Amino acid sequence: MGLPLGLLLVLQQPLILDGHIDTPQRMLDMRADITARLPDGHVDLPRMREGGLSAAFFSIWVDARYGRGTAFRRALNLIGAVRTLADTNPDVELATTADEVRGAVARGHVAALMGVEGGHAIEGSLEKLDSLYQLGVRYMTLTWNNGNEWAGSSTDARRHGGLTAFGRRVVRRMNELGMLVDVSHVSDSTFWDVLATTTRPVIASHSSCRALARHPRNLTDEQLRAIAKNGGMVGINFYPVFLDDRFREQYEELRRRLKPEIDSIRARYRGRPGESAFEVDKLVGERAAGLDVPTLDRLVEHIDHAVRVMGIDHVGLGSDFDGISVLPRPMKDVTSLPELVRALEARGYPDADVRKILGENFLRLLTAGP
Ligand SMILES: [Zn+2]
Repeated sequence: MGLPLGLLLVLQQPLILDGHIDTPQRMLDMRADITARLPDGHVDLPRMREGGLSAAFFSIWVDARYGRGTAFRRALNLIGAVRTLADTNPDVELATTADEVRGAVARGHVAALMGVEGGHAIEGSLEKLDSLYQLGVRYMTLTWNNGNEWAGSSTDARRHGGLTAFGRRVVRRMNELGMLVDVSHVSDSTFWDVLATTTRPVIASHSSCRALARHPRNLTDEQLRAIAKNGGMVGINFYPVFLDDRFREQYEELRRRLKPEIDSIRARYRGRPGESAFEVDKLVGERAAGLDVPTLDRLVEHIDHAVRVMGIDHVGLGSDFDGISVLPRPMKDVTSLPELVRALEARGYPDADVRKILGENFLRLLTAGP
């Protein structure tokens, strides 16, 4: 009686929600059909099922080359690709709230959420921000690697600049809408300006710990504590460059050596940034296999550290799948998630805590409406 056995098994699995996957650019630019198993990349629907990933924020990543007159359109096109996936595939449901995520998962479906990456997507317009919310976007990463006219990024020349007056209006408008403010990628000064402005919990959708690896994309312990105090959470990024300084040095050296080949890929895919980034990552990823790639245990150390500093209610996952060239050993794609679950269990996390890290903490922030 009741539910079929397969569905019961699905419901017993912990709900895994990934805070950041870069798959939409593949769907749009490369026409990748993620309903079938793809030979490359990290994510498609069959592999999501195999890995137990039932919900994810599909990143509406707007590359730095888009600006006034093009950036918002790019975001709309990526949103269109995700919405089409949900509209044309009965196994995928577009979700904007915790209830919608739980409902989709209970029906045995994948819950697709959307977050915009790069505040330049709104082209300086609060009306465009509102439109993104109306279309289902539930977080916005204020910058990408590029800063914009109202917020500084951790990885460009604007890193010393914080939020402008307009930037504070963006944060307040996001608070009003119920769109999560994402501080991944922003400069330290922008981070503190956001925390001083926001009236609601913030997220870092895909960031790791600077106490363990010095990359400016990572968060200091002081920042982690501030997010915990604010009621927010951090999705730990899987990217080995953010996990280990020694690997990062080797990796940067490798990229310098590969520069001619990278330049020729970029020339070949000019005007197709999603495809270009994917092909560059593929090349660098293959060559990086010979380096000292950090292991899954190193990723778990970042999770452990964040839990120690913030408490168990503030840590989650933000893999950056399909946006990074290398994964911690021996992970190969989304099908490796059960290895991470086992590693957390082996560290002694009780079942309830594992569930919080895998998805429940993220869902908590999707519960409170505007
Ligand atoms: Zn990112």
